[in-house]
Amino acid sequence: MAITYMKIDIITIFPAMFKGPLTESLISRASEKEILKINITDIRFFSKDKNKKVDDKPFGGGVGMVMKPEPLYDAIKSTGARKKNGAYKNPYLKPYVIYMSPQGKTLNNKIVKDLAKFKHLVIVCGHYEGIDERIMNYIDEEVSIGDYVLTGGEIPAMVLIDSVARMLPGVVKEEESVKNDSFYNGLLDYPHYTRPVIFKNHRVPEILLSGDHNKISDWRKKEAYKRTKKRRPDLLSD
Ligand code: SAM
Repeated sequence: MAITYMKIDIITIFPAMFKGPLTESLISRASEKEILKINITDIRFFSKDKNKKVDDKPFGGGVGMVMKPEPLYDAIKSTGARKKNGAYKNPYLKPYVIYMSPQGKTLNNKIVKDLAKFKHLVIVCGHYEGIDERIMNYIDEEVSIGDYVLTGGEIPAMVLIDSVARMLPGVVKEEESVKNDSFYNGLLDYPHYTRPVIFKNHRVPEILLSGDHNKISDWRKKEAYKRTKKRRPDLLSD
């Protein structure tokens, strides 16, 4: 039997949003191969309110609603996660609780690689004005997918799950392909071509048709460097 490498718990008020992304493509294959086990928890299940309400007006007044702490706390607890900074000899064995938030660290390949080392991620998706601040006592890290605001944390959670899943051995068929991808080694990827050799008068670079693998490899390295220098010089100065 295959080994389960990572478990991901998603805590959300919109479980149905994950249906497509988690049942198609690489993620579904990773689940089938038991490399990834994804579990979705509906926060409303933990609401004690007769209408299953999970939000309330903000203390101090003002616009918008805030996600109530009790159902969120119970939902997080149901995954086995506890207060942050728990004592774990191996920190990667701690159920690591992430709150998708525009106020968090911006997701990049370094964060993705690090998150891929955990055995259990718990991802909290916010809505409205966000979550009651006291829940931060149970959040290990806030992660943003960029400097803009979305309506909810579900799409950011999907971005995070997809990027982390690609790092797990066995998810992408050819591991080499992940290593050649942009950012993996601090460079952008080199340009790719496929058949036909001539498309609308544009020809594939001759070197790629040469069959000389050493020369092709050198050419790709140079192209990756050239691209990075031109488009993302910041990556070269890191
Ligand atoms: N009032 C919050 C603020 O300005 O920081 C924004 C709340 S937003 C409308 C609702 C939820 O969407 C957030 O709690 C968060 O879970 C999610 N969200 C929005 N933008 C995000 C981003 N850039 N990255 C990650 N999550 C985001």
